[in-house]
Amino acid sequence: MGLTIDAVLGSEDFSKENLIFLLQSQGEERTKLFAKAAETKRKYVGNTVYFRGLIEYSNLCTKNCYYCGIRKDNKNIDRYTLTEKEVLDAVAYAYNEKYASLVIQSGEINSSKFTAEITNLLTKISKATHNSMGITLSLGEQDRETLRQWKDAGGRRYLLRIETSDESLYTKIHPQDTTHSFQKRINTIKLLRETGYQVGTGVMIGLPFQTLEHLANDLLFFRDMDVDMVGMGPYIEHKDTPLYVHKDTLLPQKERFDLTLKMIAILRIMMKDINIVSTTAMQAIDPIGREKALKVGANIIMPNLTPQKYRGSYLLYQDKPCIDEEAEQCKTCLEIRIRFAGDKIGYGEWGDAKHFFRKTSVNN
Ligand code: SAM
Ligand code: SF4
Repeated sequence: MGLTIDAVLGSEDFSKENLIFLLQSQGEERTKLFAKAAETKRKYVGNTVYFRGLIEYSNLCTKNCYYCGIRKDNKNIDRYTLTEKEVLDAVAYAYNEKYASLVIQSGEINSSKFTAEITNLLTKISKATHNSMGITLSLGEQDRETLRQWKDAGGRRYLLRIETSDESLYTKIHPQDTTHSFQKRINTIKLLRETGYQVGTGVMIGLPFQTLEHLANDLLFFRDMDVDMVGMGPYIEHKDTPLYVHKDTLLPQKERFDLTLKMIAILRIMMKDINIVSTTAMQAIDPIGREKALKVGANIIMPNLTPQKYRGSYLLYQDKPCIDEEAEQCKTCLEIRIRFAGDKIGYGEWGDAKHFFRKTSVNN
């Protein structure tokens, strides 16, 4: 007899076959998957959404990922790095608005100068906010000493997407050289854990050459790596990148969006107490995309705090939303949207993944 949705959801057996079945669900089966994910979210993490104010610190990057609009060889963008004052102004906004958490993100730069710059910023942010901010870093692959230094200066969580857990697909979407090594990416994710960060990873969904089996393996990868946070979003093409030549082979954007919702829903059922981000890329495809992600299991949103004049220069993909808005407009718009999704905002709370503390207390 074939698989049935009730049996698969009831068994909580996350074999690859069952995961592919769930990723293929349509109609009533899909509705049941989303309902189970919503129920799991309510039961294990509640209906509070936590904000991470996103500061896109610099679009300088030494890497050349084939999908990314700010890759080193894209000459069609103005490069910028925020000044210390611009960062601290954004931090002050987040602090006053009781966001409680920040993400500092940038292109990947490996240099002692960059390490020192980030250490200095972390120290100043901690001082200006009386150590009250939960800081997430998303600054690419870095060595042990750098990660340790940033942790000591106030970094609490680190996001490093694996992008795809399939090595052969990984090599198709990156240049084949030592700076874009799949094994190094995995090793860095492990290093993050060893350094004591709350560890976040994630993938893009709807990449050229990607299959449902790849996506099922991505879900198993998150589980096996026992991560604390996941940020997954649809892959969105950018015309100034090498992967753009494959645009006619991609799933329609709406299907990439729907697959992302299913990935979020399944992951919530699999890893009940982790943090799952509702990514901006969801909103690039559907105007209420982030709210839809909250409804099926996501519980983190990253309102953009990058000064408006730089936003058009941090275009990872086409049609990135909210590039014309200042932080205050973003906030009001988000509050309405989150209420609409049936959730409330956890102002003044760090909203760390319960998963991290459960693991830590089990290990002690
Ligand atoms: N440089 C750091 C890194 O690569 O980890 C952090 C910044 S990078 C811009 C953040 C994420 O943007 C990447 O992990 C990737 O998943 C996502 N991204 C880049 N290009 C994208 C695209 N065309 N569509 C969707 N997401 C994209
Ligand atoms: Fe650089 Fe990150 Fe974009 Fe790759 S994904 S090109 S490392 S900013």
